[in-house]
Amino acid sequence: MEIDRILLTQEQIQSRIRELGAALSAEYAEKTPIFIGVLRGAVHFFTDLTLQFPHPCQYDFIGAASYLDGTQTSGHVKLTKEVMSDIRGRHVIIVEDILDTGLTLRFVKDHLLLMQPASLKLCVLLDKPERRRADIAADYVGFTIPNEFVVGYGLDYNELYRNLPYIGILK
Ligand code: 5GP
Repeated sequence: MEIDRILLTQEQIQSRIRELGAALSAEYAEKTPIFIGVLRGAVHFFTDLTLQFPHPCQYDFIGAASYLDGTQTSGHVKLTKEVMSDIRGRHVIIVEDILDTGLTLRFVKDHLLLMQPASLKLCVLLDKPERRRADIAADYVGFTIPNEFVVGYGLDYNELYRNLPYIGILK
């Protein structure tokens, strides 16, 4: 398969991430937040976003998987990697590539809330609100996009295309 068209260019993505970084800086400058990236799709967004946060902060990662393969969700989420930090009483920002049905992030959020953070907010690069099945909304959104399957900038199709510097739609 090949890319049919580019939905978001590298420049558009990076420019929006600078704005998100500024908004997060305004809220978290004095709070030493823990950024928790959801593996693996959020890797590029996580690194570019945190580089736009010029204040004390910590990193952690959590793994969650809902897709069996290809473009279909199984509707069932499982934890594939636990966080390493003690987040109790801390300000936590979950960093994820895309909010689609919301089942993955609802699961991740509920899991982290059990650890009693001082606050827990959600920052996603992409939001596909048309597909929502779980009761969840992001606090910070990069782009709201239509209901199309996108790849690139961390997002895969059968594990390929993650290394594209832009976000595109497959043929
Ligand atoms: P949700 O649980 O919200 O339905 O889905 C979250 C996960 O599904 C994302 O982390 C991502 O891995 C995958 N996903 C959802 N929509 C897309 C898409 O348009 N493209 C790709 N590549 N993955 C998607």
